[in-house]
Amino acid sequence: MSSLKEQDKAYVAGTYARFPVEIHSGKGSIVKDETGKEYIDMGSGIGVTAFGIADDAWQQAVVQQLGKVQHMSNLYYTSPCAELAQLLCQRTGMKKVFFANSGAEANECAIKVARKYAAQKKGPEYSTIITLKNSFHGRTLTTLAATGQEHYHELFQPLTPGFVHCEAGDLAGLEALVKEYKVAGLLMEVIQGEGGVIALDPDFVKGAAKLAQEYDFLLMVDEVQTGNGRTGKLYGYMNYGIQPDVVTTAKGLGGGLPIGAAILGEKAQDVLGFGDHGSTYGGNPVCCAGAISVLSRMDDAFLAEVEAKGKWIFETLKGAKGILSVSGMGLMVGIETVGNAGEIVRECLNKGVLCLTAKTKVRLLPALNIPMDVLKKAVEMVKEVCAAKA
Ligand SMILES: *Cc1c(COP(=O)(O)O)cnc(C)c1O
Repeated sequence: MSSLKEQDKAYVAGTYARFPVEIHSGKGSIVKDETGKEYIDMGSGIGVTAFGIADDAWQQAVVQQLGKVQHMSNLYYTSPCAELAQLLCQRTGMKKVFFANSGAEANECAIKVARKYAAQKKGPEYSTIITLKNSFHGRTLTTLAATGQEHYHELFQPLTPGFVHCEAGDLAGLEALVKEYKVAGLLMEVIQGEGGVIALDPDFVKGAAKLAQEYDFLLMVDEVQTGNGRTGKLYGYMNYGIQPDVVTTAKGLGGGLPIGAAILGEKAQDVLGFGDHGSTYGGNPVCCAGAISVLSRMDDAFLAEVEAKGKWIFETLKGAKGILSVSGMGLMVGIETVGNAGEIVRECLNKGVLCLTAKTKVRLLPALNIPMDVLKKAVEMVKEVCAAKA
């Protein structure tokens, strides 16, 4: 471990503060370090490994595709890409899909779609994208501009122009921005993940959807973290009774392989034409085969279990010693603690449970198929540590 630590420090760009643990292997929601010590994984790679580590069905789908063709350029047809696009459209009622490789790239595509839609319909001056304060949309210069948190912007100026930020929940403020600027689209997370696992107010979400209709700009929902079963519905917006024009997703979609998608509704489906956008790896057959395996197993019964597990976590942690509040939906949980969240996560790690933070909260994003007994063990441990650190 110490030589790995030195090697990593010497050669890997220093953008990540890593925990002093080497993750060597795993199965489901249990991972092992190089000495064989076991941990319960309550982060699933920041909500990525939806069916856990080295899931059998996922692995089989991926390996099978690897043996056929691992990559072709988008100059040719491959079947996993079309099959996954059809599956996504059938499950959302949306019309077409552009495949990218990450959440940030999915959002880049959505922003291009909104700008071209508005430019063609109303004129190129309709270019402003509204996003919410405290949001997170990615690390590229454009998605940083979309991200409504100043501290990510420092030292990377100038960012892509044309973004304004609205207070989440302030519908009157949103309407004022819509009247002040020539707006192409609104991009928002229905539950702000990196911002502290904060669900938007349903009236605000419905009101925003209505404004998008009235003023004919695109309603884009960033489902990179909330998507693919995480909240107990297939996509987070489905908890709110709205129909977005664009849904972006990534993280859990590939089950552990890099894939992003911008899913386009009625209004947005034909905006992009030949040459407007592209990606060398986009729609990669191996990533798509993994995503088909993930998505096709998320039926109503599976999603109901995610919801029930989430409810159990909320009931177990709410009002417990050292816990001020519990937020989120399904298996996307934020815990406001009396003790320092970073210290609590470090202590959980020592005790064999891997957790995340989101701002000042402890965040849990376990694999969606985590067995109830494993989940209970981990949550009881988190509860104990929160009490001890209070
Ligand atoms: C993680 C995340 C992103 C960025 O995804 P990358 O794959 O890291 O580019 C964008 N939006 C939300 C809501 C996220 O949680």
